Amino acid sequence: MADLTGQCLCGSVKYKLTSELLMSGVCHCKNCQRQAGSAFSTIAGVASTGLSFTEGEPKLYEDSDTASGGTVQRFFCGACGSPLYSRVPGNPDVVYLKTGTLDDTGDFVPQFQVWCDSKQNWVELAEGVPAMAKQS
Ligand SMILES: [Zn+2]
Ligand SMILES: [Zn+2]
Repeated sequence: MADLTGQCLCGSVKYKLTSELLMSGVCHCKNCQRQAGSAFSTIAGVASTGLSFTEGEPKLYEDSDTASGGTVQRFFCGACGSPLYSRVPGNPDVVYLKTGTLDDTGDFVPQFQVWCDSKQNWVELAEGVPAMAKQS
């Protein structure tokens, strides 16, 4: 499999993935909506060791005001603001990539939908995809 690549909007931060996506999903939490400025975020778990930056370095925002109560580390481009990935407490070996930053999103299929309690009213949950009111 060829390495997947991606970048932020302005291209200051570019990355490649040397390991496969573990699982993909959609997060409807309010904080993802705020950070993305959108209806939800699309994420894919990747082994931390499988994500490397080929250009630039993301900045970190420690997001402690979360529905789960844990502090989520949110990494983003300091120049253009694109969210790139996040890391959740208790699971340091996995990072959650914001899949909209992938160069090729053709393979993205959500396998779970979380925090559906706070999804926006107009959003229809994908049929046949497990949906959880809160976290898994
Ligand atoms: Zn950027
Ligand atoms: Zn979220």
